[in-house]
Amino acid sequence: MTSLLILLRRCTINIKNNGGIFTGKGLSWIHLDHRKVSDKFLGVQKLDQEGHVHPGLGCWKSFLRSFFGGGHDGSKQIMTLEDIAKGIREREFKRIVVMAGAGISTPSGIPDFRSPGSGLYDNLQKYNLPYAEAIFEINYFHHNPQPFFALAKELYPGNYRPNLTHYFIRLLHDKGQLLRMYTQNIDGLERMAGIPAEKLVEAHGTFATATCTVCLREYQGEELRSDIMEGTVPHCSQCRGVIKPDIVFFGEELPQNFFFYLTDFPMADLLIVMGTSLEVEPFASLSGAVRDSVSRLLINRDLVGPFAWGPSRHSDVVELGDVVSGVRNLADALGWMPELETLMADEGQKASKTREE
Ligand SMILES: [Zn+2]
Repeated sequence: MTSLLILLRRCTINIKNNGGIFTGKGLSWIHLDHRKVSDKFLGVQKLDQEGHVHPGLGCWKSFLRSFFGGGHDGSKQIMTLEDIAKGIREREFKRIVVMAGAGISTPSGIPDFRSPGSGLYDNLQKYNLPYAEAIFEINYFHHNPQPFFALAKELYPGNYRPNLTHYFIRLLHDKGQLLRMYTQNIDGLERMAGIPAEKLVEAHGTFATATCTVCLREYQGEELRSDIMEGTVPHCSQCRGVIKPDIVFFGEELPQNFFFYLTDFPMADLLIVMGTSLEVEPFASLSGAVRDSVSRLLINRDLVGPFAWGPSRHSDVVELGDVVSGVRNLADALGWMPELETLMADEGQKASKTREE
């Protein structure tokens, strides 16, 4: 297994814990892959109550794990998918938190743009990126925004349709049982499926809004659409600065509402993790942030994160395989498939009507 180096860039963590204070301002994304760590990174810093830095906290992940409680009690899984379904159906679970990643979007045809060599990056060859990840680095964006906007053109809301996984979460919301959905995806398919913005933490940002990089004037994503579709870099009507969609780049702060997790996860009565490799921090560690007694359902191709590290919590349930099939199995066990199919058909009709107009 790759050694895990978890470091924060230009940031301090700030969460109150037993008299010590960790600041949460300026958290940015960290890959759990040592190849991506460079000398630009600073270590994680721990502050005492006076705000003095304590060196050597070392590992954000182990910090979060110790802060929120680990989760491996060595006992065997005793719950099943049917038990989870029963809990949802009988409304025993009313504050469900969903965590999702790219695996729920690939069934909609969204290319896996984060993996070098997976198609989309290859299309960006002509821009001579120094390395693939530069496309999401803010300093590179200021130097050359073209490659990012080429990607934006591909991913801009409207090119793809939500699939059964998104509508399943929409249905959880319609039934009043969704506390929040935390998504790593920037394709906007959650909003398109009708999950309201206030129920979403788009941890890596969104194309729905945008901000001028110079005067910080705010724009709606729709205002940028024609420029982006024409392959033009959008400029601010006020100051001519480059307008950047509110996607979170490496080295940028997380969206403010990411910190909802501080209340959402302790309140959650069920956690569903789907279609994510849980490889980007601090998103990955959230899966350990629910109370020990709370069931966690993983619907994914592979075992990931705390589900892979060791024996799971006795209330963990794992549904391995294709994500859409896994969600379909859950919907079947709930008896929700007819409702889900009606919802998808209605929304599909609405969308084609909008396209015709
Ligand atoms: Zn401006």
